[in-house]
Amino acid sequence: MMGYAGNFLEVDLTEGSVKETSFSDEVLRDYIGGRGLAAKILWDRIGERWEEIDPFSPDNILLVLTGPLTGFIPGTKVCISGKSPQSNGMIGSTIAGEFGVDLKCAGYDGLIITGRAERPSYILVCDGQIEIRDATSIWGKGGRETLKHLVKRSVEDIKRLRPNYGEVKEPSILYIGPAGENRTRVAAVVSKYAHGAGYGGYGGVMGSKNLKAIVVKGFGPLPEAHDMEKAIQLFDEFSRRNFEIEDFRRWGTGRGGYHFGAETSSEPIRNWQEEWHNVESFKGEEFDKYWVKRYWGDFGCPVTCLKLSVIRSGKFAGAICDNPDYEFEAYMGTNLGIFRPEDNIYISYIANDLGLCGIQGGAVLGFAAELYQRGILTREELGGLELSWGNTEAFTSLAEKVARREGIGGILAEGVYRAALKLSQIKGVNLLQYAVHEKGVAIGAHGIRSGEDFAKNISYACSVQAGDHTSLASIREYGSGEASSILSDSATCCTFTTFDIEVEEILQLYEAVTGFRLTREEWYEEKALRILQIQRAMLLIGGPDINWRPGIDDENPPRFWEPLPSGPYKGKTVDRNQFEREKQEYYKLVGWDERGVPKPETLRKLGLESVENKLRNTKIID
Ligand code: SF4
Repeated sequence: MMGYAGNFLEVDLTEGSVKETSFSDEVLRDYIGGRGLAAKILWDRIGERWEEIDPFSPDNILLVLTGPLTGFIPGTKVCISGKSPQSNGMIGSTIAGEFGVDLKCAGYDGLIITGRAERPSYILVCDGQIEIRDATSIWGKGGRETLKHLVKRSVEDIKRLRPNYGEVKEPSILYIGPAGENRTRVAAVVSKYAHGAGYGGYGGVMGSKNLKAIVVKGFGPLPEAHDMEKAIQLFDEFSRRNFEIEDFRRWGTGRGGYHFGAETSSEPIRNWQEEWHNVESFKGEEFDKYWVKRYWGDFGCPVTCLKLSVIRSGKFAGAICDNPDYEFEAYMGTNLGIFRPEDNIYISYIANDLGLCGIQGGAVLGFAAELYQRGILTREELGGLELSWGNTEAFTSLAEKVARREGIGGILAEGVYRAALKLSQIKGVNLLQYAVHEKGVAIGAHGIRSGEDFAKNISYACSVQAGDHTSLASIREYGSGEASSILSDSATCCTFTTFDIEVEEILQLYEAVTGFRLTREEWYEEKALRILQIQRAMLLIGGPDINWRPGIDDENPPRFWEPLPSGPYKGKTVDRNQFEREKQEYYKLVGWDERGVPKPETLRKLGLESVENKLRNTKIID
């Protein structure tokens, strides 16, 4: 099919073998790429044994997939997936950068990685030449060292493999830090030192495969498009509109740092005990003085939402990261009681270097601090750390312990939910009441209690990606909600570049690139729904350590039922009756029964008989 390179790389790390594979046009039309195709591949290959497969076992499959729009739309992403060590379902976790474009220009639409390498390794893809190389010398190293080493070494390798090419620019690299190597469930797959795919915990999956990095350089053109003229015209039009998103270009996503706290009361503060603050030091302007790069964008992206900040002097001198980035600002800032930009830049820098997901890692640090606040975790148990709110050095030390699984870090590395279960057992009290998560996935930094943010009532509770704030369940009519996220994550586009672009326009670009006409109705009523059912089934089957109970686990965390204690929305919380009503409405909309289980007739209509059979065999369908 046009728009695709046509080949996928299958890498078996146990065998040390590499081969090419492809998918039929029918599969590509139904599942597009990225998240959709990941659901298809995972279901076909390990769906039958889903409940038995430990996400950290060699049996798990790590997928890095592009989509047909990768390279053809301003800004671009790849989708990382597999069986998630956080939810035990499947999460499509996207990461921006040039990796997808380089991969397609190398001649591949994605990587399907199985097994476990005998020793630390990385995969090098240079056009059609693939090597599995030794990464022993960088195992244990942080992101900064890893990147420095890999760029230098890979440029030399690429010159060796392509001797006549001349000057070689740095390749695209996905890598993990110590958090991933140590198989924490809060580890991200990282890129460009600033981007992370953290939902899902796939950094830990890479670590379990002894895979430190994937390095790609493609010298070829993008694949042929069906109607290149039209594709270019739409690219230009989307770019023009993206140039008008002034807020993101000027402030990055960190613009929300003040807005979500002060005005919408939906930013996590001190482990979500509050969601309101009016601390002026967290206004976008306050970060201006740290910027060394004001407009930084990914391939072909005029939004340039990245801002590179550096601390030049003082105790945190040398810290560098993309800041303000809203999620980092919230989870490594307000949620830890940190309201000083310098401290936020520093701890974000350390978390990036460790390869911790800003959201999952920040959530578990905040959870530990609340237990300390309540006297449940002692200073001794924390290895001598005075984990009081705002103590940046203590939080940074704890982040190190989590990434390296040292002391209490070994428990916290399991993520908020599993750590709460374990500590409840040790302490003999129910600590789940302080764990803000949805089905094992810490919730993005957008609270639902004030009702003023884009996440609402059932957004997380009914999402097949659980706490993922980029994929929210919604009862609003088609054109919003998870089905739209599935389109972006499958095509693959960066959501920030599609704010002002209608679904119809994305489908026009999809047609110009692939030559295949896909209507809005076909997407929302058939194809997106099919992908959603597969993800839902995987989530419900779960295992081996945790199974989610239909009808029970589609629930907000206890904290979200507590009334907001301060701010303009003081006293407000989610209305239980409305929540239950919307939940049932949503189940109906997507073809689930009153417990939230896909109905047999829904599955049959979508040609998912194998999913029906599996749900029957596991007694989820009676
Ligand atoms: S909007 Fe931001 S994250 Fe998305 S592609 Fe552009 S620069 Fe990258």
